[in-house]
Amino acid sequence: MDCMVNHDFLDIEYNGKLPMIIFTERGWLIQSDQYTNELLEEWMEWIKQGKRDPDMMYLKDRNREIIFLLLEKIKGSGNQSFIPYLELWKKIEYKKVQTEITKVITALEQNNPVDGKAEQERKKRIGEALEINEPQDLLLKCWICGDRFIFTVGEQQFHKKKGLSLPKRCGKCRHSYE
Ligand SMILES: [Zn+2]
Repeated sequence: MDCMVNHDFLDIEYNGKLPMIIFTERGWLIQSDQYTNELLEEWMEWIKQGKRDPDMMYLKDRNREIIFLLLEKIKGSGNQSFIPYLELWKKIEYKKVQTEITKVITALEQNNPVDGKAEQERKKRIGEALEINEPQDLLLKCWICGDRFIFTVGEQQFHKKKGLSLPKRCGKCRHSYE
């Protein structure tokens, strides 16, 4: 256990007297993969509907890791239909994200063969994370404020039963946006 803590894989929090061990990176890895898949599916839906002018503001000020992962997946898709949306998105973004968007647009335009290594590596890590069978509280990151929040085993079972995906927002943000 100690070596895992040293490698920044686990966070230990003390809840009363019992140490509560949380697999932070595992939670975040699964969560970010799921968010970006949902975002990508939404874009696919837009393409199907022929949507031309989605308001891209919803992507601004999102967690950067999510945004960069989304861009990686868009690039990996090789789907040129995404380019108009990328152009719209670029207009409202900050410089650092704009630069990344431009790179993805260029890659899609040039139909560059995608180096799938990073993606494969990530999939492998997600697979490994999911293989840990024992139910664990997950420490998730709020998509709005970036704070960590706990997704307990009980909540996980409830969500699974209802067929819900992972919660995106912490309790605080859930309340203020509803
Ligand atoms: Zn929040």
